[in-house]
Amino acid sequence: VSGLRPEVERLSAYAVDQDASLVKLNQNEASDDVPPDAKEEVFERLRRASWNRYPSGGPGALEDMISAREGHPVGGILAGNGSNELIQTLLVAACDRGDRVVTARPTFSVYGRAAGLLSLPVDEVPLAEGFTAFDTDAVIERARGARMVILASPNNPTGTVLMEEEAGRLAYAVEGLLIIDEAYFEFSGRSLKGLIAEHGNVVVLRTLSKAWRLAGARLGYLMGREDLVRGLAKAKLPFSVGLFARTAAEIILGRRGELEETVRGTLEQRQRVFQALRGIPGISPVPSSANFILFRIEDRSASVFYEQLRARGVLVRVFDDPLLAGYLRVTIGKEAENDAFLEAVRVIACGSRS
Ligand code: PMP
Repeated sequence: VSGLRPEVERLSAYAVDQDASLVKLNQNEASDDVPPDAKEEVFERLRRASWNRYPSGGPGALEDMISAREGHPVGGILAGNGSNELIQTLLVAACDRGDRVVTARPTFSVYGRAAGLLSLPVDEVPLAEGFTAFDTDAVIERARGARMVILASPNNPTGTVLMEEEAGRLAYAVEGLLIIDEAYFEFSGRSLKGLIAEHGNVVVLRTLSKAWRLAGARLGYLMGREDLVRGLAKAKLPFSVGLFARTAAEIILGRRGELEETVRGTLEQRQRVFQALRGIPGISPVPSSANFILFRIEDRSASVFYEQLRARGVLVRVFDDPLLAGYLRVTIGKEAENDAFLEAVRVIACGSRS
């Protein structure tokens, strides 16, 4: 016996290929690092900080900055060690043994993993045909009696956006909490946080790991009604956001330029990669509102295509889910990285150098 619960034993390791020598387009990270002068500012602040003291336990300067940016009361904001931590906090705080969680399929695997660890049954509602829309009616149907509905908009790995009208209908219909994960919102420009004012059951998740270039620092936050967030804060581990993450986040949030540059560049490149993929025989990209594109490979298995790309030095994301058997996901990178990816896809798909 391992001493661990069967729920843990059954989980596969959360393993992602992180070979830095490859063109790395598999984790939806920003392609540009934080600029050196911003890093210097962080170091400078860290030098002056007291490392022997616990970081802020409750809302501090970081939450004030987020509050001002978002126009959301500081009491309705909770920062976490990445949005992953907050997903777990939400589940722990809201769900009793046996409570049902509803999500979409395909979607971000951490929802199912975190729920599974708590032995919570997960209902996965397939996206509409072609992954271009949520099946909102089906989600509403399945949400009856469920404790939580969690949807990502834009959705990972499809880039699908939940329309405002659909989200509004969901917020009315869902009896439990409606969590909208907006990890990629900056690339779609559409937020559903406006629902919070009218619906006390809506929580919006954000992260600094994508458009803000801070995946390594680990900083996510959620927004909701103040009374709800006060409760959630009690379920989160104390001091889970460390001094480094707080400081890096404060500096980077104060620098609009980097964000705008990341988003502008990504949107231009997304358009270009999408058009190029569409022009390659046997490849069908799914329209995306995020910083990645899911694409279907018609004439061979995605895992074979993945290995062929890897052999050519390009790392993309391959999936276990049978629903995604014919699909790979590529993160939008820098122009040269995208060129390397597109050239490799052309060569593999066409069987010849172009
Ligand atoms: N939500 C979605 C939809 C994601 O794709 C990711 C990252 N892959 C996360 C949340 C987790 O982000 P963080 O780095 O903030 O934990």
